[in-house]
This record gives sequence, structure tokens and C-alpha cells, in this order.
Amino acid sequence: MSDTKRFDNYIGGQWVAGADYSTNINPSELSDVIGEYAKADLAQVNAAIDAARAAFPAWSTSGIQARSDALDKVGSEILARREELGTLLAREEGKTLPEAIGEVSRAGNIFKFFAGECLRLSGDYLPSVRPGVNVEVTREALGVVGLITPWNFPIAIPAWKIAPALAYGNCVVLKPAELVPGCAWALAQIISRAGFPAGVFNLVMGSGRVIGDAMVNSPKVDGISFTGSVGVGRQIAVNCVSRQAKVQLEMGGKNPQVILDDADLKQAVELSVQSAFYSTGQRCTASSRFIVTAGIHDKFVEAMAERMRSIKVGHALKSGTDIGPVVSQAQLEQDMKYIDIGQSEGARLVSGGGLVTCDTEGYFLAPTLFADSAAEMRISREEIFGPVANIVRVADYEAALAMANDTEFGLSAGIATTSLKYANHFKRHSQAGMVMVNLPTAGVDYHVPFGGRKGSSYGSREQGRYAQEFYTVVKTSYVGS
Ligand code: NAD
Repeated sequence: MSDTKRFDNYIGGQWVAGADYSTNINPSELSDVIGEYAKADLAQVNAAIDAARAAFPAWSTSGIQARSDALDKVGSEILARREELGTLLAREEGKTLPEAIGEVSRAGNIFKFFAGECLRLSGDYLPSVRPGVNVEVTREALGVVGLITPWNFPIAIPAWKIAPALAYGNCVVLKPAELVPGCAWALAQIISRAGFPAGVFNLVMGSGRVIGDAMVNSPKVDGISFTGSVGVGRQIAVNCVSRQAKVQLEMGGKNPQVILDDADLKQAVELSVQSAFYSTGQRCTASSRFIVTAGIHDKFVEAMAERMRSIKVGHALKSGTDIGPVVSQAQLEQDMKYIDIGQSEGARLVSGGGLVTCDTEGYFLAPTLFADSAAEMRISREEIFGPVANIVRVADYEAALAMANDTEFGLSAGIATTSLKYANHFKRHSQAGMVMVNLPTAGVDYHVPFGGRKGSSYGSREQGRYAQEFYTVVKTSYVGS
């Protein structure tokens, strides 16, 4: 029998052994096993949903001070352990240690934010059009929510769904991505000792197709908040809508970064490298297409090529590493496939394009940049989700804006310019949910709404006080004398 540590599901206030276990591997060092993590079966996911249902009546009407205190306690422990949890995150997902500590801090701050938000829930009190009657508009908890999360933000995305769900009185069943159960388990352990009643929060790890699907189709689950790929998200929406469950989706992107002739070249290069290659390009808000106007195009290509020579790819935990490994063999194969597609479509390889050898065996890929690419190429249109980007030359701002919007997605969009006129016009006319001026397309605050348009998102916004739209339902009460 293996002496690797085993991590169980958390159901109804108990740690419950999995029907099976899967091995969590470090993508920077394939011989490094992080642990064996439980895989729930259908009976376990149903038990978690039942535990959440049973806890809901008391939790949804519980005092807001107790909720606030418990959320605050979770936030404090996450922040106090940010280095340790950041190390775990870097080890299982492959972000560099500073990036991982940043993500953990974000998760802690989100819990602190919602510890305050649950004290600020408000409604409306209005006179009725009928004399002697008053109207109250209040918000109540949605019910049992199923939270399904992707691998690329192993602690921040669970946090930004769990914290508002609990703050507004919902009970939770969390299903994290199979590749990164470690951070979800650590978060569950912190939640398990923060003072929430049994059943209010449940963790089931394992297959999306089996247990994720069971959550989506359970009549006892009132809403699903999903972050992940477009194909899975669309099917979840169909299934939820068919049984009138509430659904919220955050999915893919093909985020444009526009560089205008009047941009500060050095700043444009730095923010473009950040957008496309940091976190190994594995951010839904990463940019993978640079739309560059003719007057600055050649200087930008040259400066990017020069800057990319100094990017250090390596072990996520090693000091000095700029970019860690790709998360998995399957993702590496997808990235390599798109590098082949770019070359066969006739784009010019400016930098990268191949694997990087390091001291340890891992999924190391050189950040890759194409130039001379066209808007209709697949590398310009499809989400790659790795450190692979391309440059398209355009005549002027109008052509850049049109190309930036010419995509089925609409998550994040950036512009680098010193012109107030173009910055304002872009903010107003970009068809993305989030617009960045002289900033990378990735990198957002935790206290304001997050989300996209078109194929990137569906349903109400996540994060900030806008999160209450999904996690509460509105009631209108009429009171006569
Ligand atoms: P994925 O769709 O493969 O998996 C996401 C989650 O869904 C996982 O927990 C998975 O187990 C589960 N799942 C899979 N099949 C399911 C099914 N049939 N029913 C229910 N659940 C199922 O996505 P991924 O590969 O983990 O993540 C990468 C994707 O996530 C990218 O497309 C990226 O753009 C997107 N993403 C979007 C945002 C955003 O906020 N817009 C943030 C991060 C990642």
C-alpha cells in the first residue's frame, strides 16, 4: 500500500473516504506526488446535496453576525497561511510562487470582503400605489448551490463563489477541477473549523462528467455557478434551464490587446508580456492576440522578441522563474497543436515554439509569439489557453477596434495608447465585459464585478456586491394596515 497522504471529501460536517482516489502531481516535477485525493461517486454527491438541503432552513435564517464572523475567520486563516498555501498552489498548478501567493491573498481578501457584505444586505421600502399599503423588496438566499470550478485559479475561483454563497445564506456543494484538488481541500479544511454548521459547506472531489453532471441535474440543487470551458458550460446551461435552475457561467476568452502608434513602447511591451505569458498564459483574461497599428508594428515586434529572450521558464517554486510549467500533458499537447497550426497557417514564428529543458522533468514550454498573422487564422480566433500569442498588423485605430470586437468571446480587452480620445472611445465601444487602458488584460480587483459578454459569460456577474444577483432571490411583500 502507498504511504502517500490521502485527502477525503467533506460531507455533512464529516471527512468521508472517497469511492476511489486520484494522484495529484506537480507539473514542474512529475516525480513529486502531492497526495491522493478522494474521488466521490454518485452516492457521495447525493449525500452532500442532501446534507446541504438539510442545513439550509437554519442557515438561511441564521444571524448575520455569526456568518460574518465565520467568513472573517476563513479569510484570516488563509491570509496567515499565504506562503504555505501559495507553495501548495504553485506545486499543484504550476504558477510561480509569487503569483501563487498573490492568488492566495486574493482568496483571503475575498472572504474578508464578504464578511462585511453580509452585514450590508439591503432592500427597498416603498409606498404602494394603493393608499394604506406599503411595499418591501427584500433578498433571500437562493438555496443549495453547486459550485463547479476550473484548474487555473485553484483557490481564488472557489473563494469567489463560496464566500458570497455563504454570506447570503446559501448552502454549498463545491466540485473543484480534477487537476487541482489540493487547494480546494485546504480551503475546505479551513472552512470546516471556522464555525459553520454541518452541511452548510460540502466538498466533493472527482470527475466533472460524473459528479459535476449529477449536481447540475439534481432537482435538489437550486443554482449552478460554473467556471470553465465553453463546451461544458453551454451543456450545463441547457440542463439547468430545462429544469428552471438558476445558472451562471464564466468561460473562455480570446482577449485582444490593441497597441496604437502613440503608445509608450516600453510600457506596451511590458503589459503585453504580462497579459500573454505570465501565469503561463493560463488565465481566462490572458491576451493571446496583439492588434498593432502600422506605425509602431515593426518596433513592437522587435522589442517583444528582445524582451522575450529574458523570460525565464522553470520550476514554479524556484526563485527567479518568470513562467512556470503548463498544467498538464493534455494542455501541453493542445498548446503544441496550436503552434503547429500557426506555422501551417503561414504565421511567422518570432520567439519560442518548443519545449524547454529544466533540471526537473515537467511540462515546460517556451513562451511563443507569432507575427504576420491574419485575423481569420485559427490562432487569432480560438482560445489556446497557454503561453502562445500572435500579432496582427492593422492600418489604424478604427481597424483595430473592429478586429478587437470581431470574436465570439468578450471577456477582457486592452488598449495601449497615450491618447485620451482613443482610450475613451475604446472603453465605450469595446464589446468586452472588462476593459483595460494601459494595463494588462489580466489582473483584476476582488471587490468589483467580474465577467464578460458574448460567448464568454452567461448570467449575472460574479464578485463584488454584484455577486448578490446570483446568490439571492428577490421577494416583494405588500403590507396593509
Ligand atoms: P473544464 O470545462 O474542462 O472544467 C471545468 C470544471 O467543470 C471542472 O471542475 C470539471 O471537472 C467540470 N466538468 C467537466 N465536465 C463536466 C460536466 N459534463 N458536467 C459538470 N461539470 C463538468 O475547464 P478547465 O479545463 O478546468 O478550465 C479551463 C477553461 O476555463 C478555459 O476555457 C478558461 O478560459 C476557462 N476559465 C474561465 C474563467 C472566467 O472567469 N471566464 C476563469 C478561469 C477559467
